[in-house]
Amino acid sequence: QVETLKAKLLEQAQEISRLRSELGGTDTEKHRDLLVAENERLRQEMKACEGELRELRRQQQVPCQGCAHLQENAELQERMSQLQREAEEMRAKLAELELEVQQKTNRLAEVELRLKDSLAERAEEEERLSRRLRDSQETIASLKSQPQQIKYIIKTVEVESAKAKQALCESQSRNQYLQEQVGMQRQVLKEMEQQLQSSQKTAAQLRAQIVMYEAELERAHGQMLEEMQAMEEEKNRAIEEAFSRAQVEMKAVHENLAGVRTNLLTLQPALRTLTHDYNSLKRQVRDFPLLLQETLRSARAEIGQAIEEVHSTNRELLRKYRRELQLRKKCHNELVRLKGNIRVFGRVRPITKEDGEGPEATNAVTFDADDDAVLHLLHKGKQVSFELDKVFPPQASQEEVFQEVQALVTSCIDGYNVCIFAYGQTGAGKTYTMEGTAVNPGINQRALQLLFSEVRSKAADWDYTISVSAAEIYNESLRDLLGKEPQEKLEIKLCPDGSGQLYVPGLTEFRVQSVEDINKVFEFGHVNRVTECTNLNEHSSRSHALLIVTVRGLDHSTGLRTTGKLNLVDLAGSERVGRSGAEGSRLREAQHINKSLSALGDVIYALRSRQGHVPFRNSKLTYLLQDSLSGDSKTLMMVQVSPAEKNTSETLCSLKFAERVRSVELGPVSRKAELATWPSQEQLEGDSTGTTAPPGRGHASSSPGQLSGRAASIRRKLQTSG
Ligand code: ADP
Ligand code: MG
Repeated sequence: QVETLKAKLLEQAQEISRLRSELGGTDTEKHRDLLVAENERLRQEMKACEGELRELRRQQQVPCQGCAHLQENAELQERMSQLQREAEEMRAKLAELELEVQQKTNRLAEVELRLKDSLAERAEEEERLSRRLRDSQETIASLKSQPQQIKYIIKTVEVESAKAKQALCESQSRNQYLQEQVGMQRQVLKEMEQQLQSSQKTAAQLRAQIVMYEAELERAHGQMLEEMQAMEEEKNRAIEEAFSRAQVEMKAVHENLAGVRTNLLTLQPALRTLTHDYNSLKRQVRDFPLLLQETLRSARAEIGQAIEEVHSTNRELLRKYRRELQLRKKCHNELVRLKGNIRVFGRVRPITKEDGEGPEATNAVTFDADDDAVLHLLHKGKQVSFELDKVFPPQASQEEVFQEVQALVTSCIDGYNVCIFAYGQTGAGKTYTMEGTAVNPGINQRALQLLFSEVRSKAADWDYTISVSAAEIYNESLRDLLGKEPQEKLEIKLCPDGSGQLYVPGLTEFRVQSVEDINKVFEFGHVNRVTECTNLNEHSSRSHALLIVTVRGLDHSTGLRTTGKLNLVDLAGSERVGRSGAEGSRLREAQHINKSLSALGDVIYALRSRQGHVPFRNSKLTYLLQDSLSGDSKTLMMVQVSPAEKNTSETLCSLKFAERVRSVELGPVSRKAELATWPSQEQLEGDSTGTTAPPGRGHASSSPGQLSGRAASIRRKLQTSG
């Protein structure tokens, strides 16, 4: 048993030594030193990293500028990537270390486990040994009680057990020592574990720092990116703006282009047609001169022929025209002759306020409803009828009167001389008929207006000039009403050219072209007449007023010249100056008027009875109007009468004068008896029937020898009146 125990102890010792070699402190210590050195290195690296980071931060605070910034950024990124790489390496190393530590810890745990096992085994062994020891002691005790032999055995065993006890003690102490050693090792291990933990902590701190730095770097990178983004955006915006502008412009350009294209499209056919036209025109132009020459030649020939034809027809026409003209004149003359060159109209003025009231102002004149040439006068209870060429009742307007007169006026344009006389007692309407009022003009103005319009309508063939003279005959002296010296007496003279024409040297003649001109002339004449006398009305009734219109015409085609004269005469009052016997100038005036009116009657009579001699020279009036009363001339006597009861005797005289002038024409043979008895005005007054009266009162004929006996007797009778 002791032997086995000894063997077991040895085994134990071996086991312990093996354990000790296994646990060999040198390895662990070496590893720890290595770790410490590694730790130191890492710390230094971290410091360097911090320094770099600081540097980096400082650099970041410097405001980045353009490309430098970008470059810096690139550098930084590079550095960062380097750092990251380094950190990665460090992380790898750390992981390695951790792995190592883990392995070590595992091994340590294994060793501990084994140690525990061995301790437990040893405790078990000890227990077993102590039990065997007790058993042995018990056996020894039992043996003691047994014979001497046993005592000896016991003694040897006792000796042997002391030795075993000593070895046990030794192994126990050694075990103690080993346990202490294990405790020390555990302490060291704990320390190392603590160191490892702290290093892990620092590594975690470092990792956190790295993460922080990374975050910072990330932020910086983000800022950079943002800035870059903003810049990029700005760039993009600018680009976009430029792009949109460009697009708009492009669009406009496109539209223009499209318009131009459509224009071009529409223009093309036009161009084609134009070129076509142009070509054809060019051809035509090339051929034109030839064509033109040919055409011109033929046209010239044709024109020449046509001109020749036209010439001949023209000549023929002209010849015919002249013949027709002559024929027309002849016919007109015949017509006028048939109608009578001398016509007598009667005009009855209406009852006016001047006629007063009462029986004296009653109407004494009546008309025939069926015959406008017949007039009835109630005189002293007897009705006397007169037949004239036409009678105008009081209501007849100026227009109507002129209607009857205008044929005479127009013949003036054809070159005839015309005389229109207004005859009648003062107040019977002579001036009203000839001059009229401003609103209702008389024959004078209307005649001139008609002449103007006629001349205008003939202007294509004829050149006409119309001129006007105005004269007054008072007491057998002629005065120019339009002259500068109205007081001057004018003479009527024979033309020195031997044509037998009369003319008045110094008589003013105004050329008139419009109604305004005529009005001016009339006004001027009136002014001259007014300035010369105090009482116009009285004076005008004592003198003859003449308006002489001369119309001269030239026919372009024939070269024919015509001259027509229109004499418009407002005669002096025909009333007889009181038989009570006027004196002085009044008597002289009356005599002059009487003489000139008688002379007029003589002339008209001589003309109408177509006598060889017409006594024009018997008065200034007839002498002046000689060429307008003779020949083809036409004469109108407008006999004015008042319808008032008080004027019937004068009315009667005027109407008798009118009828007698008219009756001359109606066949001298058939009216022989009537004509043979030409009464004086006094006789006319006394004899309303107008029949025979005793002839033979003295007269003052200037040239009786030139007259036939009958004419002379008549004139004599006329002149003796008044
Ligand atoms: P005379 O010239 O013969 O002496 P007037 O022409 O002076 O006569 O006429 C006398 C008056 O009678 C004037 O006031 C005139 O206006 C008027 N009178 C004459 N005839 C007419 C008529 N037909 N219609 C209206 N009034 C007339
Ligand atoms: Mg008058």
